[in-house]
Amino acid sequence: MAGGWARDGAVSEQIEASISDELARMQARKRPSGDSLIYCAECEEPIPEKRRIALPGVKLCLECQQERDSAFSSRGGINRRGSKDSQQK
Ligand SMILES: [Zn+2]
Repeated sequence: MAGGWARDGAVSEQIEASISDELARMQARKRPSGDSLIYCAECEEPIPEKRRIALPGVKLCLECQQERDSAFSSRGGINRRGSKDSQQK
C-alpha cells in the first residue's frame, strides 16, 4: 500500500528536485566522503592536490566551484526580478 499522498503532480516534482539539489550540497559539505576526484567533474582540469587534501570528496576545481556557487545565487536573483516585472504573457 503506497498511500495517496505520493507524488501527485509537477509541483511536488519541482520541489523535490530543488530539495535534492540542496541536500546534495549540504551532504557534500557536511560529511565529505573519501571520493575526491583527481580531475574536475566539470572541466576535467586536474584538481590541485592541496585542494583535494583540504576538501576530501571534492569534485570540482576551484573555478568550477565558484562558478557553481555564483550560478546558484544569480538564479535566485533572476527569479525575483522575473516575478517583479512580470512581463511574460
Ligand atoms: Zn573545473
